[in-house]
Amino acid sequence: RLFKETHIPSIEEVVERIGRRYRRLRPRRRGAKGLIEFELKRVELVYNILRSVFEKLAKLPPTKYMNEYHALLIKSIYGDAYDKAIERARYALRLLEQLWNDYRLLIVTAENPREAARLRKEAAGRMISVWRRYKKHVDVLIEVKNEIIKTHVVSENLPVIVVAGIPSAGKSTLIRRVSSAEPEIAAYPFTTKTIIVGKLRCPQLETYIVDTPGILDRPYEELNDIEKKAYVALRALADVIVFLVDVSPERILDVQQQYHILDQIHDTIAEPAGTDIIVVINKVDVKEEAALKEAVSNALARGLTVIEISALTGHGVDMLLQLACDKAFKHFIKRSNLYLEFEE
Ligand code: GDP
Repeated sequence: RLFKETHIPSIEEVVERIGRRYRRLRPRRRGAKGLIEFELKRVELVYNILRSVFEKLAKLPPTKYMNEYHALLIKSIYGDAYDKAIERARYALRLLEQLWNDYRLLIVTAENPREAARLRKEAAGRMISVWRRYKKHVDVLIEVKNEIIKTHVVSENLPVIVVAGIPSAGKSTLIRRVSSAEPEIAAYPFTTKTIIVGKLRCPQLETYIVDTPGILDRPYEELNDIEKKAYVALRALADVIVFLVDVSPERILDVQQQYHILDQIHDTIAEPAGTDIIVVINKVDVKEEAALKEAVSNALARGLTVIEISALTGHGVDMLLQLACDKAFKHFIKRSNLYLEFEE
């Protein structure tokens, strides 16, 4: 929430803000003392504005306090640049404070207003340059924030069922059928893709059911670099993966090619995260017998649980949900416990 409410100003915005307030300041008293006081006020103004900006940035959540999925996404795309930006904000705060303390003393003991004005220029210049040098960090913070706040829909801590499978396999038909409300569409952070999020009432706990069109519906090698990272990050999101295999005559890829996609999901996401894959043979109402057989034997050869459904007629869907809820909940509990242990 803090993340969402924090406005991260650009370098120019802050410099402009300082300039505007600076120009409105006037000396309060006449004479040399008044002028020296005035110079001090001007430095204090610069200091206060910058301090409040850096204080806000220093309070942004480091990835270790984010949910795993966002943390992994940020780290795989920016490395440690985001966490570093927050750390550097703390460092900048100390630096500013130091400058303020030093120059305050120098200015109040200045011999005359000219000397005070020279010190004021120097102090303000040095403070503003702390901010200017921070530019690349600000850029990272702004980018990360803008991307991450787009996905508020999956940021709660609930189990997640991820649905995968080639385009037209029936993913959205399935999600719409089981979702308790109209699925929400949000941007997939850092990519031009979307993420579709439905919610369903599992017996254990309310659960998300998610589709990532353009990510988990094609071979990994077809993705661009950022999409590949977004793909890998799903590792931290999925509690169970429901992989739809299209066995209708209209399927856009043959069964073997569909299993190529499944194998990549297995190797990249499921295996490393200890997440189960349920193979769901869809469109059994219009199945092509040979394709069905091939799909089943492929699943069995991989030792995967396989279930037949029709997302359109609803055949087999209840059984699928039971299985998916059960697996999602178990995985969710496991990762929550791991997290608690880790926190202790
Ligand atoms: P997605 O691209 O994986 O989300 O696939 P969609 O859910 O959009 O489905 C693609 C097409 O297949 C649509 O015309 C659906 O009505 C149809 N479809 C989905 N599931 C079934 C099914 O079980 N049986 C039949 N006959 N058609 C289905």
